[in-house]
Amino acid sequence: MAQETIFSKIIRREVPAKIVYQDDLVTAFHDINPQAPVHILIIPNEVIPTTNDVESSQASNLGTLFIVAAKLAKQFSISESGYRLIVNCNKDARQEVFHLHMHLLGGKDLGPMLSLD
Ligand code: 5GP
Repeated sequence: MAQETIFSKIIRREVPAKIVYQDDLVTAFHDINPQAPVHILIIPNEVIPTTNDVESSQASNLGTLFIVAAKLAKQFSISESGYRLIVNCNKDARQEVFHLHMHLLGGKDLGPMLSLD
């Protein structure tokens, strides 16, 4: 079974987080170190360490991340101005928490897609 991270404790509300959405499949909460005026993490409740571990049986579960992202973008008034969805995987993407998560970033001009330094 996949190793739990701090995110499982957030899902179970054992550690504090600013949760903005939760249902049976998905939890969303504000990033502790926001990189934009809106920076929300949207995660499957099931532990999936990275995108490399995704299985076809999880398709609808993971598809829900996009549904929730669009809903939250509207709720936080960035759906028209725009936003970026990011999923990091492993070392070169600097993934820090090995519980697959989607970053929802917006509320300002986010600049070029990648900083090339
Ligand atoms: P990654 O680099 O793995 O894609 O992003 C992990 C994100 O999780 C980072 O943006 C980091 O600030 C956030 N994060 C790490 N630990 C916590 C935590 O305990 N609570 C919250 N709300 N965010 C966290």
